[in-house]
Amino acid sequence: MYSAEVLSQLRSLNHMNQEIRSLPRENPESILLQKQIEALRARLPNSILGYHDRFAARGQPSAVKVNGESCSACHLKLPRGLCGELAAPGRFGVCPNCGVFLWADVQPIVAPVEKPARKRKAKL
Ligand SMILES: [Zn+2]
Repeated sequence: MYSAEVLSQLRSLNHMNQEIRSLPRENPESILLQKQIEALRARLPNSILGYHDRFAARGQPSAVKVNGESCSACHLKLPRGLCGELAAPGRFGVCPNCGVFLWADVQPIVAPVEKPARKRKAKL
């Protein structure tokens, strides 16, 4: 799967879900948050929401960061191919064991900035 945007929306959704659980119902903040959640859900594909809701129903996040080469949710070692795929920025996958969305913290590769060669002042 490839979409940095879907992944970031999914992560926001998980974050908001967690926050709304800590707020009392009918709280103005909670109502506002609920609206934000609905707006976010409207932008996510149904297939993704289906996965998300299965975890949300159990109070679990639907997207977790990979822990080395293991799933952070079920702690199973992931197939090497999946780890390789997750190593690309913006990619995410699904754990073959528990079905959670997985992502890896990939630093974008930045070319080292070359310092301009210092001009030597020729002393006369
Ligand atoms: Zn898993």
